[in-house]
Amino acid sequence: MMKTLKIIKQNGSCCTTAKDIEVQETVNNSDKNLPIVIIGAGPIGLAAAAHLVEQKQAFILLEAGREIAHNIRSWGHVTLFSPWRYNINKAAKALLDASGWIEPNLETLPTGNELIDLYLKPLSELVQIKPNIQLNSKVVGISRQFNDKMKTKNRVEQSFNIYFEQENDIRIMEARAVIDATGTWGNPNPANSTGVWLKNELALADHIEYGIPDINSNTKRYANKKIAVIGGGHSAINTLLSLAELQKENPLTKLVWIMRKRSVEEAYGGEEKDALAARGALGVSIRELVDTGKIEVITPFYISQLKKDENIKIVGTLNGEPKVLTGFEELIVNAGNRPDFTMISELRLAIDATIESMQALAPLIDPNEHSCGTVRAHGEEILRQPEKDFYIVGAKSYGRAPTFLMATGYEQVRSITAYLSGDNEASKRVELELPETGVCGMNLANQSNSCC
Ligand SMILES: Cc1cc2nc3c(=O)[nH]c(=O)nc-3n(C[C@H](O)[C@H](O)[C@H](O)COP(=O)(O)OP(=O)(O)OC[C@H]3O[C@@H](n4cnc5c(N)ncnc54)[C@H](O)[C@@H]3O)c2cc1C
Repeated sequence: MMKTLKIIKQNGSCCTTAKDIEVQETVNNSDKNLPIVIIGAGPIGLAAAAHLVEQKQAFILLEAGREIAHNIRSWGHVTLFSPWRYNINKAAKALLDASGWIEPNLETLPTGNELIDLYLKPLSELVQIKPNIQLNSKVVGISRQFNDKMKTKNRVEQSFNIYFEQENDIRIMEARAVIDATGTWGNPNPANSTGVWLKNELALADHIEYGIPDINSNTKRYANKKIAVIGGGHSAINTLLSLAELQKENPLTKLVWIMRKRSVEEAYGGEEKDALAARGALGVSIRELVDTGKIEVITPFYISQLKKDENIKIVGTLNGEPKVLTGFEELIVNAGNRPDFTMISELRLAIDATIESMQALAPLIDPNEHSCGTVRAHGEEILRQPEKDFYIVGAKSYGRAPTFLMATGYEQVRSITAYLSGDNEASKRVELELPETGVCGMNLANQSNSCC
């Protein structure tokens, strides 16, 4: 269908004419009283909204999904490894408390669905926030008004134009600052260990799931099949633990765990030594299933491509020797995720060449050096981009590094929103309390996905 172009002005009225645009061009960005636009209503985007309420700043939150926290809903059946204590943002809590919200027991572990239903949803429904959220609004491009990336003259005085799809139209919203909190969950890495997406893999879409599928509500697809789970991190372990439950009722289910680690022990992580006990427990449980032969492990295996004859063939090398693994009916790929920069390609960005995190953040989070708990708190200064007043926060700010924690993201947006509200002193303060979780990334040197 042909898409039309509409422009939303800051007062919410629609359909600016070309003449209006010319007039606006001469108006300084700071004179226009434009909102800050947050993109993505996950936990970090919503926390940014709570801070902007606190700072009395106008904002709009655009969310691609038909409900908030769309990405988390897709893994809603999974239990988090950090207890409620670390999952609730301070500004959000203050607003929720004032509305009569009942706080969950801070020492328990929510599932993704509980995180949404008991915290994020009530937060999004507060009178100070709800009217500013637009669902079903996928952002497809951002630029400075009238200018592409090349133009420098008057750039910082110009507002941002945010292009988004809504009700089969493409609309434009103006903003004085933009916070990109779109995460990475919707953009998985391929099975191929080189990271290259090949059409063979895309052609197998009916037999591959990415992420952590809800096996319980899809038992028919997996029962009594030969399934390969690809990846050596906690997502793969979560997937395998659910499949092992299915295997109890359906003993012909065959589980093969394929990863790149030198040995499976590296995948078990901190186990009893992990300060986040729930995460340590994953390692303990999976070790038992491997030791008792319920799961066959093939490692170190480097996948070069997937093929299909009667079933799926996985082509690659095992211990450096060419090897083809055959007979798979289903694949579940947990090889991590990567940020998508398409929508911000007309902005000036400083992205780390290796991790694809924010450039200044990379030395703090390089998975070769840091485990989850040793990441230093950081805020506006570290996340500042060459494009003034544009920030990437949350899981996306970590690029391909899998070690992001919500608590870190909450500190990021506290600092950025303070800065955007003119409170430089508060933006420089460090207010993060993280659990001491240094063991979660043990044996990181050869791991691609050690944390989540
Ligand atoms: C299985 C799993 C378990 C985890 N457990 C923990 C844990 O125990 N503790 C912890 O601290 N962290 C945990 N994490 C890590 C992390 O905190 C979460 O991934 C968290 O959801 C990241 O929040 P976010 O707001 O940055 O991104 P997301 O939650 O991914 O939210 C991004 C939002 O942006 C929207 N969006 C995307 N693109 C667009 C677009 N173009 N336009 C508009 N909207 C868009 C999406 O629909 C989504 O709603 C876990 C992660 C996973 C995957």
